[in-house]
Amino acid sequence: MSSMRQGPGASVLQESFALAELLDLDSFKDVCASYADLFQIGFKILDRNSEMLVDVKGGSVDFCAYAFNFPEGRSRCMREVAAVRNMKIGDTGVSIHNCFTGLRYMIAPVQHEGDRVGRIVYGPYRPVDVAPPDFSFLGEKYKPEIGQRLFEQIRRVQDEVVSKVVEHLVQVIEVMLYTGYKQILTSRMHVESVTAGYTELQHKNQQLRESYERLKELDRLKSSFLATVSHELRTPLTSVIGYSEMLLEGLAGELIGEQRDYVQTIMEKGENLLSLISSILDFSKVESGNLRLNRAPTRILDVVDSAISTIMPLARKKSVAVERHVGGEMPLLRIDGEKVRQALVNLLGNAVKFNREGGTIALQIDQLSRARTKIDDDVPAALSPPDEIVMRIQIRDTGIGIPPQKIDRIFDSFYQVDSSSTREYGGTGLGLAISKSFVEAHGGVIEAQSKLGDGSTFTVLLPIEQEG
Ligand code: ADP
Repeated sequence: MSSMRQGPGASVLQESFALAELLDLDSFKDVCASYADLFQIGFKILDRNSEMLVDVKGGSVDFCAYAFNFPEGRSRCMREVAAVRNMKIGDTGVSIHNCFTGLRYMIAPVQHEGDRVGRIVYGPYRPVDVAPPDFSFLGEKYKPEIGQRLFEQIRRVQDEVVSKVVEHLVQVIEVMLYTGYKQILTSRMHVESVTAGYTELQHKNQQLRESYERLKELDRLKSSFLATVSHELRTPLTSVIGYSEMLLEGLAGELIGEQRDYVQTIMEKGENLLSLISSILDFSKVESGNLRLNRAPTRILDVVDSAISTIMPLARKKSVAVERHVGGEMPLLRIDGEKVRQALVNLLGNAVKFNREGGTIALQIDQLSRARTKIDDDVPAALSPPDEIVMRIQIRDTGIGIPPQKIDRIFDSFYQVDSSSTREYGGTGLGLAISKSFVEAHGGVIEAQSKLGDGSTFTVLLPIEQEG
């Protein structure tokens, strides 16, 4: 509506508003009507494009309607209206327009913030200094006694009085404009500040999105780098281990004393390195989304026993006792035995590594039923799916435990509770992340509970896909 809108970024302070935008038109019309009632003189308010906003009738209405009935009266009246509409008026003061009827209009500009936003056309009123003309030009049908009577109903008033009323009316309108402007200003400033905040947020969001994309790309590069490097390292390392084994077996001649010890150390360290490289390789497969399960009917106890035997040498070295408790008959499961074994080896390996000398590890395996996630709250209990049977494997140790504020992070890749360069325990911080991915790939869950100084319990729940 406003005629001088600025660009979208411009402030509300630079904007120019139309009368109708600044005024509450209903209450403004009420004010105008009470003015017309009070002085018995009608008036019109036009905006800067000469659109009429308010038209209140005064005492002249009957006479004008009478004169308008005659073709000559009608055409003269329309000429007067056009003349007033198109009249050039100054920015200040009032202008006068005399109607063919001898009535008079006073026209005054309405200003806001130094800008002419419209005008008042006050009247018609009957000036004191002008005698009513002879209306015979209206034709034979014109009845002078009627015209005269109606004409005299129009209020006779001095120009000075009208000028005062108009001045007052202009002041009232300008106050109303000011109030309206203040309201618009407040709400627009509020919207502007919210919009500015939102734009900044969007900008930050975009930056975050870009950083995220960059990080994802870096992460992908890191995974593929890790996969390539670890693969390339594994081949020569297997040879180092293989040749050490052959030396120890005496295939290249009997080793003596320290020679045997040295080669033994080479082989052990080589095996450590190999398991480290294998975890990195597993991890990079998980990260790149290339994790595939080779499910086959598997005896879970075989998997558990194989994992225990893998960590037994380490446990023995640290005098850690390993117990195994089986809760009843175990069904044949359709799982990827190697992946589950690897997950358990990682957990058992940690249970040894973070245990105290002479500590204990208890592995408990049993089946339990778990409520399935409800599909919909509206489904009656009788129709909701039956509880699900899951395999639970719990590994409890008597080790150092995990601080409560860190327990949520231990499944993150490369996370270690003690990440200092002087840390006591070796490792990559990948074991738990790999175990979690392997278990989750089976539709299972893995969780940890711990009491600092007392030990930790890791629980694996695997859904049972029974064979046959
Ligand atoms: P790594 O053992 O190679 O450091 P993991 O991903 O297997 O990496 O474990 C991450 C971290 O979680 C470990 O560094 C250790 O701080 C903590 N943690 C894991 N298992 C245990 C446990 N049984 N007892 C105490 N802390 C543990």
